Amino acid sequence: MTDRDRADSCRGPYGGEAGPGHCGDPARFEVARHGRAPLRVCPVHLGPSLLMADGVLWPPDISLIR
Ligand SMILES: [Zn+2]
Repeated sequence: MTDRDRADSCRGPYGGEAGPGHCGDPARFEVARHGRAPLRVCPVHLGPSLLMADGVLWPPDISLIR
């Protein structure tokens, strides 16, 4: 797995900073966060990450990345 693959995998649903979450699916959305790197998540974890990840803006600022 390359660095690019890791960067594009889902970090949901909690937005862990240490590395990818336990999901590993390709990320499709990027959620803007306050004071943190944007959180990339798959469709399944988009909803949970908005509610549970740290620093998510409200209302959410979501971009489709692929
Ligand atoms: Zn996911």
